[in-house]
Amino acid sequence: MSNPTIAIVGRPNVGKSTLFNRIAGERISIVEDTPGVTRDRIYAKGEWLGHEFSIIDTGGIDIVDEPFMEQIKQQAQIAIDEADVILLAASGKEGVTDADEAVAKILYRSNKPVILMVNKVDNPEMRNDIYEFYALGLGEPYPVSGSHGLGLGDVLDEAVKHFPTDNEEEEDETIKFSLIGRPNVGKSSLINAILGEDRVIVSDIEGTTRDAIDTKFVGESGQEFTMIDTAGMRKRGKVYENTEKYSVMRAMRAIDRSDVVLVVLNGEEGIREQDKRIAGYAHEAGRGVIIVVNKWDLVKKDTNTMKKFEEEIRDEFAYLDYAPIIFVSAMTKQRLNKIPAIIEEVSMNQNLRIPSSVLNDIIMDAVAINPTPTDKGKRLKIFYATQVAVKPPTFVVFVNEEELMHFSYARFLENQIRKAFEFEGTPIKIIPRRRK
Ligand code: GDP
Ligand code: GDP
Repeated sequence: MSNPTIAIVGRPNVGKSTLFNRIAGERISIVEDTPGVTRDRIYAKGEWLGHEFSIIDTGGIDIVDEPFMEQIKQQAQIAIDEADVILLAASGKEGVTDADEAVAKILYRSNKPVILMVNKVDNPEMRNDIYEFYALGLGEPYPVSGSHGLGLGDVLDEAVKHFPTDNEEEEDETIKFSLIGRPNVGKSSLINAILGEDRVIVSDIEGTTRDAIDTKFVGESGQEFTMIDTAGMRKRGKVYENTEKYSVMRAMRAIDRSDVVLVVLNGEEGIREQDKRIAGYAHEAGRGVIIVVNKWDLVKKDTNTMKKFEEEIRDEFAYLDYAPIIFVSAMTKQRLNKIPAIIEEVSMNQNLRIPSSVLNDIIMDAVAINPTPTDKGKRLKIFYATQVAVKPPTFVVFVNEEELMHFSYARFLENQIRKAFEFEGTPIKIIPRRRK
């Protein structure tokens, strides 16, 4: 489940973001109707020869108020912390610069595999200019052109060779979850409080990256959980840890590795723009979602306070209408003991399989209550439906014409399925497909 990770580093203007977009390819495109999701991504998924990977553009993590050299050194450090393979980008147009040397030196000491890309080699004649890059001590330089998409196949071939081999198979029994949220909502406090509750901690396991630490524990039911390390949990006092882009990148990585994501809000401060963006990522990734309103001890309450807050959440996070909401306090430990059971429930729901016969009964009943829509005189016909995947539950509905399945009708079908089955906490996908 955890993808190998590639990070691109290098001084400004060598073409990192151009290369990032090339390598991420069309997979960088994102669902447009998820609110609050920004387009300038620094984290994306890519694929090469059947290998899926994640890719980070460290150049997009701006570390403000730091001198130029310090910034690129920190970006290199992020790459070392996060990536399995590092791509150092330089420019064939400008040749080797002091900044390239400084970054190369840091990467060289890291013992991580580094592939040196000499970018802006737009035509074959320029290939002769790359030999000076051997001086960086990182082995063979690969000539590439981000703007023309040249040479990247060779780089990716090489990168794939360094991907860690997967031996996480036996982890299927454990439910992986993470806590995400903006800084100071109380993620670390919650984690400590959850783990502090006389649970048996099985082990701290080394993650795929050097200092990512996941924690395993066994809940009261005997279920094993793995808590995924997230931003803000391991405060090491590094400057970049406070930048928004860095914490977003870390949150996205945690989401990718989780089955269930706890989106933590600060009950005292209410909902902020950044909360919506972070929750949007979890939804988009198709993970189970639980909304945790923390610091509930600090909120002045009357009988309606919780209901009002809940309504506000439903308003602001309309696309997360399936997510359960829980009001807690890391400080007083109020309701914290309920969290593992809710995670377990969501995990069950996202793994649920509905037999085709039952599913088709639900769909036919749905069509009877609310006839299928027509468009330009043509009516949507539904032939049958079948569940093709779990995590998240995904249903293919065979129809006469895919375009006739409007968003609102798919949504109606989803609601009917949800009425019949407890899919609380998990998104479900409905995919119309033309019957051949
Ligand atoms: P970053 O600061 O390292 O992320 O660099 P960008 O991706 O923003 O690119 C910096 C500039 O170099 C832009 O004007 C790009 O159009 C240009 N550039 C990027 N890749 C290439 C390339 O392969 N060839 C040429 N000639 N220009 C490129
Ligand atoms: P993180 O950045 O999301 O990991 O947040 P922290 O766990 O570091 O918490 C930020 C601050 O909020 C700290 O001063 C905590 O002591 C405080 N805090 C966290 N949870 C609660 C809570 O439930 N109630 C109160 N009163 N304070 C809390």
